[in-house]
Amino acid sequence: MYQQSKTLLKEQGLAASKKLGQNFLVHRHTAERIVDYAELSKQDTVLEIGVGLGALTRPLAEAAGQVIGLEADSGIIRLHEEQQGGPEHPDGLPENVQLLHQDVLKADYPELVQLSQGKKLKIIANLPYSISSPFLFQLIEHHEQIDFAVVMLQKEVAQRLLAQPGTKEYGVPTVLLRTVATVKMLMSVGPEEFHPRPKIDSAVIRISFSPLSERAVGAFDHNLLKIVVNSTFGQRRKTLLNGLASSGLLSKDVLRECILQAELLPSVRAEQLALEEFIRLTQVITKHKSQ
Ligand code: SAM
Repeated sequence: MYQQSKTLLKEQGLAASKKLGQNFLVHRHTAERIVDYAELSKQDTVLEIGVGLGALTRPLAEAAGQVIGLEADSGIIRLHEEQQGGPEHPDGLPENVQLLHQDVLKADYPELVQLSQGKKLKIIANLPYSISSPFLFQLIEHHEQIDFAVVMLQKEVAQRLLAQPGTKEYGVPTVLLRTVATVKMLMSVGPEEFHPRPKIDSAVIRISFSPLSERAVGAFDHNLLKIVVNSTFGQRRKTLLNGLASSGLLSKDVLRECILQAELLPSVRAEQLALEEFIRLTQVITKHKSQ
């Protein structure tokens, strides 16, 4: 399947859809390396986002007990349904793959957990570039239902998730993801690994979910943190105080007081703050709001 994805698409009258971010993996060893990073066993059910022609699905089906594969493209679903199980189609998907015609951005996470034998989700994806941002926010929202995600995405997005305070890559997704997970760079992947070739480089990262920040810095209001982070980064070139004032959470004077009590300077920029500092500020604002 790997080297012949172009031929297969042609035979089936399918063309790789740009809109659906269809850049298929062409080398089996690359797919196997990605699957190895997930460290799966036969007891595991794994959720694959965007099955495509099955480049990742096959090694996943060998490594895990069961694969639940989501795919948004009806042409691809039809192709697999026609090929599944028949001896005349040795390239059909293995029997322990359950294919669901589903847009992941509309997925019902509790339902997916049910399909995974009630266990937290282990997610693998070679993500369509166009959905990487909404998908990451979806992971943050459903973090309690996820064990880990091994995902391939634009290298630039991976670098943003791994960025340190004080850099231009550091932003809202970096901070919010860090409240619920740790992120590790696994490998870089060049355009030659895909058909059709994308114009940019990709990277595979592992996102391991656990509320680390709560253990390290005490409880905090996640929704309020989101407002603090969004308002301050939304006005990136403004000072922390001016950005925060745009949230309308409290009066500007009280917010200045909150920033000082959190041992921060009103004149710093959001991108200079580490996660712990955002959390401290959120905790002080919570106290003032309840007064
Ligand atoms: N896993 C395959 C591989 O590695 O070769 C395909 C990866 S390709 C980059 C992304 C796949 O996700 C395509 O098959 C595309 O149709 C599918 N897709 C795009 N948007 C989707 C969505 N919102 N929900 C589920 N699948 C989607």
